[in-house]
Amino acid sequence: MYKLRNPCQFASGYTLHLYCDHANESHDFQEFPREFTGETFAECTRRAQSVGWSIHYKTRTATCPKCSGK
Ligand SMILES: [Zn+2]
Repeated sequence: MYKLRNPCQFASGYTLHLYCDHANESHDFQEFPREFTGETFAECTRRAQSVGWSIHYKTRTATCPKCSGK
């Protein structure tokens, strides 16, 4: 028995699944959920916002880049 040199790493951190809160014909089939990963919720939302998502913390909903006009 020996230790693997490149073992599979365990998953950690946080995954955020975003669904757009708008009905928009330009949404692609199976476009959602859009997944963002990070160590924390804040890191995930930061990544989502950096590609144009609007996060609505109060209602825990989100608007995709297409619908938020970015
Ligand atoms: Zn949308």
